[in-house]
Amino acid sequence: MIKIVEVGPRDGLQNEKSVLSTEDKLKFISLLAETGLKTIEITSFVKPEAIPQMSDAVELFKQVTAKFAKTGINFPCLVPNLKGYETAKSLGVKEIALFSATSDSFTKKNVNATVDETFEKMSEVASLALKDNIRVRGYISTAFGCPYEGRMDVKKLLNVTERFFKLGAYEISVGDTIGVAVPTQVKDYIKELKKNFPVEKLAMHFHDTRGMALVNIKTSLEEGITTFDSSAGGLGGCPYAKGATGNVATEDVWYLMQSLGLETGIDIQKLAEASKFILEKVNKPTESKFLRAYLSTGKV
Ligand code: MG
Repeated sequence: MIKIVEVGPRDGLQNEKSVLSTEDKLKFISLLAETGLKTIEITSFVKPEAIPQMSDAVELFKQVTAKFAKTGINFPCLVPNLKGYETAKSLGVKEIALFSATSDSFTKKNVNATVDETFEKMSEVASLALKDNIRVRGYISTAFGCPYEGRMDVKKLLNVTERFFKLGAYEISVGDTIGVAVPTQVKDYIKELKKNFPVEKLAMHFHDTRGMALVNIKTSLEEGITTFDSSAGGLGGCPYAKGATGNVATEDVWYLMQSLGLETGIDIQKLAEASKFILEKVNKPTESKFLRAYLSTGKV
């Protein structure tokens, strides 16, 4: 069984300039909840000034959990700081995502802190979360390459991964934020990670900027990775990484997995409906080649 972490409502929409209504987001998440996806990252408890798209995080989380509390679907939320953590806790969030990167230049531009400083901040949040029985997932940006520093040394990735495990993260998502990774690099870096950490606790987060996402996912599968982040319709990008297209599309990941006989639990027709809905709202064509074909032919 392959675990797909759907990040469209958070990672995807975060990069959309036009702010959607809470109603539209709820509809999108509701459609996603019908697809069989078991983990849907829905929002981020950031300052509204920082990311206006996420300014309805509290209301959205309340509405989603009121509607889907009994389904067993996991709705993690991103938490950038202690204040965000306190909000998440007060709402009964069961899983939070914390984030850092392998590159100081990237974290400085992104959150005005060095990598070390992000871990100082996160350690307090993570220890509270563990005490409060809230699961912690770690995101590592620029694992393979950085828009400012170029190719990143695998030693930096190993170091940041270790720090996240020390914080108590149950799963770590290794992100190719700007979509520069290629299979040889992916293979080498996962091999190094596996020497030090349990592969079942690692997830891969690819962007399809240079068309390498699926081949990188196939390579990751061959190295034993079974958890992948993706976004419906390929929504997203990165505000700090010019030209970075969205996350790999969940539809494309589905198509690859089913071709390999690997189960994702996703109903592709329902997923396509969810993507079609949100792409119309953000007024964008899909980045997913599979979805484009599927929507125009109605066939897999
Ligand atoms: Mg992403």
